[in-house]
Amino acid sequence: MKILVQKFGGTSVADLDAMKHVLGKVQKGLATHDKVIVVLSARAGDTNKLLALAQQWSAAPDKAESDCLVSTGEQVSIALFTMLLKDNGISARSLLSWQIPIQTNDDFGNARILDIDRDTLYKLLESYDVLTVAGFQGVTQDKRITTLGRGGSDTSAVALAAALDSCECEIYTDVDGVYTTDPNICSAARKMDCVSYEEMLELASMGAKVLHIRSVEFAKKYKVPVRVRSTFSDDPGTLVTKEDASMEAVLVSGIAYDKDQARVTLRDLPDIPGTAAAVFGPLSEKGVLVDMIIQNTSQDGHTDITFTVSRRDLPKTLEIMQSISEKIGASEILHDVNVAKVSAIGVGMRNHSGVAARAFTALTQEGINILMISTSEIKITILIQEKYVELAVRILHDTFGLDWDIA
Ligand code: ASP
Ligand code: MG
Repeated sequence: MKILVQKFGGTSVADLDAMKHVLGKVQKGLATHDKVIVVLSARAGDTNKLLALAQQWSAAPDKAESDCLVSTGEQVSIALFTMLLKDNGISARSLLSWQIPIQTNDDFGNARILDIDRDTLYKLLESYDVLTVAGFQGVTQDKRITTLGRGGSDTSAVALAAALDSCECEIYTDVDGVYTTDPNICSAARKMDCVSYEEMLELASMGAKVLHIRSVEFAKKYKVPVRVRSTFSDDPGTLVTKEDASMEAVLVSGIAYDKDQARVTLRDLPDIPGTAAAVFGPLSEKGVLVDMIIQNTSQDGHTDITFTVSRRDLPKTLEIMQSISEKIGASEILHDVNVAKVSAIGVGMRNHSGVAARAFTALTQEGINILMISTSEIKITILIQEKYVELAVRILHDTFGLDWDIA
């Protein structure tokens, strides 16, 4: 049995007109597959409205009740869309997570999928051509409703595709696919035909917001090919899939950036075993995620440590650093919020040297000062002043031959 999973985002189900485009895509899916599983998001804006409602009722909404509330957005979408399918002669029914079930842990607001009962789905597919499943939601073992985190419908779709051994998972949105960088700041950005899971993980974590990051992790783990495409065009979109030789021939496949960065520097720390642990231990205990870290070489037995955190975590970070500054022996605690990071990403970097040097040279020519550098096998990240982000993205995009007129 050939099964296709199609997921549609909030703008695709926003109103009746948009849903008619979705209907067209499902009909196309049925023309080439035996069955289609449709996963829907809440209509555009609905999840935000529900979250705001919870805030009106309670200063600190109960997490489980909040999930019970916000998960209703998807329920509206699947009921309305299934009516449309039936009116067009397609045998279909809607499914909430507990009706399958899609089982999750009880981390309300950010739950993880543990299991999907595929037998129920296969049984239902004997009677229906289309099953319309509410994205974003799950159910715990003791039957409480959970949600998977903002943007979580992508993960619902990929998890269903993995559970059903379907051939491909299509993620429909209002853009044509994944771009080499943000087209809003770089007009030369191009849509990629293909991108590896590893690259997509880096692009998504760096703020290329097309796909929920956990959905890419899921797709990678279960080898589900994911196609990101538009509901409103016939463009084949971007295929997110496992790496192949042709991908390695490309040095850099995308440039990402993230403005949600703040830099903290601790001056003159004693360069002895245990200093770094004394700094980062309390941060991790309080749930602060540290991104880049640099420790300087030692001078007279002392060293500086610089690291970055998300801007919203800066007050908490500074508070923690003040409270331990005497213990760790820092002479000064400095911070800067006007920083941002830019990354060049590509699996081709594994086999080629000189990428970092090329990036630094190009930035230097434009007079952009580099504050911090970190590298991994497939990524170079630099921290710069925020006001240079757009320029840096455009320069790197051009330097690595990504501009559409060169390729
Ligand atoms: N409706 C949820 C949200 O807005 C989940 C999703 O759309 O993927 O975050
Ligand atoms: Mg989304």
